[in-house]
Amino acid sequence: MTDLAYTPEEEEFRARLREWLAQALPALPAKPPPDDWPGRRAYDLGWQRMLYDAGYGEVHWDASPTVRLIFLEETERAGAPYVGANFVGLLHAGPTIAAEGTAEQRARWLPPILRGEQVWCQGFSEPDAGSDLAALRTRAYRDGDCYVVTGSKIWTSHAEVADWCELLVRTDPAAPRHRGISWLALPMDAEGVTVRPLRTLAGSAEFAEVFLDEVRVPVANRVGAENDGWRVTMVTLSFERGTAFAGEVVACRRVLAELARTARGNGRWDDPALRRRLGRLDAEFRALWRLTQWNVSEAEASGGVPGVGASVFKLRYSHARQELYDTAAEVLGPDRLDLDRPWVLDRLNALAYTIAAGTSQIQRTIVAERILGLPRGR
Ligand SMILES: Cc1cc2nc3c(=O)[nH]c(=O)nc-3n(C[C@H](O)[C@H](O)[C@H](O)COP(=O)(O)OP(=O)(O)OC[C@H]3O[C@@H](n4cnc5c(N)ncnc54)[C@H](O)[C@@H]3O)c2cc1C
Repeated sequence: MTDLAYTPEEEEFRARLREWLAQALPALPAKPPPDDWPGRRAYDLGWQRMLYDAGYGEVHWDASPTVRLIFLEETERAGAPYVGANFVGLLHAGPTIAAEGTAEQRARWLPPILRGEQVWCQGFSEPDAGSDLAALRTRAYRDGDCYVVTGSKIWTSHAEVADWCELLVRTDPAAPRHRGISWLALPMDAEGVTVRPLRTLAGSAEFAEVFLDEVRVPVANRVGAENDGWRVTMVTLSFERGTAFAGEVVACRRVLAELARTARGNGRWDDPALRRRLGRLDAEFRALWRLTQWNVSEAEASGGVPGVGASVFKLRYSHARQELYDTAAEVLGPDRLDLDRPWVLDRLNALAYTIAAGTSQIQRTIVAERILGLPRGR
């Protein structure tokens, strides 16, 4: 196992960042309400622009995984905004293009993401292809220098406010399922793209169905070789399950500390069962942070792409997050169960964590087969 130790340069990076955050954060405008997606887009892109102007815009791709981790740790600790509406651009599509794109593609798509000018969404899941993503049927056939794409996607987060979509299509229906897929960059304003928002139980239209009707996408928008999209997708998913949630662990530890303080103030602390639960969660989030560091050092040793340890992290983190917000309900009491309170929304959102980016069942299968070496299921 590789051990993570910070170098003097990395500690210096941390100190400079901390100083910058202290003077930059008070200048931020007020945060828009959770369901104002155009407002959130503007706010999140504005924050990315501030990072870019200060020299931190590229930290998600150009910095080493360790520096990225320090960045996430410090921004969370300071209460800075997270990547928000451009989660996909900054943490999935961007790193994938950086790792797999040509020099031309990198020059075309990465700077607008870094400057906070463009938002990306992820068009992977389909109504009959979620856990079994390789069953996807959205079809793309070649016509000159374009693909003509027809099909539909679902659960496409932030599609309504996105400029681009990282889109998985089937380019060879005759090939074995995993070998006939390609990864395309789809402009969301292309003719034939229709976005129909879906509302969550918390009332937010944060994702959508996307319908594609004979949409022409230039062949130059394909990242990776034709029919090699499954391999490119595995790179995207390793970023999604690996380092993309890392900053949130720090945020959860902050919430936990606040809960312990609240429990001391409102008398709930006298309950030994609650104290045990808070203590166990504290141990869990500490362990998750160590696991993140371990995953990052492994990624560092293997060229920057997180490995299967990402699935262990995703599995444990998503369940710990749900338990954290259940515990919050216990500490705060039923009279605080009000949808206007941010932590109630956080609890509802936590429900999605064991589904999004691959369900817990799927992560367990990955851990069983690829880490524990158990026999493959049929
Ligand atoms: C908040 C949120 C945001 C999302 N954002 C996006 C996005 O931006 N882009 C995108 O493409 N997708 C997105 N998704 C979709 C997400 O990736 C899928 O929901 C997920 O992969 C599960 O697929 P499914 O919903 O089709 O469920 P299914 O695959 O139909 O699974 C249903 C149930 O069966 C279980 N199951 C299925 N197969 C197996 C198996 N082989 N072994 C054991 N159990 C199994 C699952 O674990 C699950 O409990 C998002 C989802 C959520 C909740």
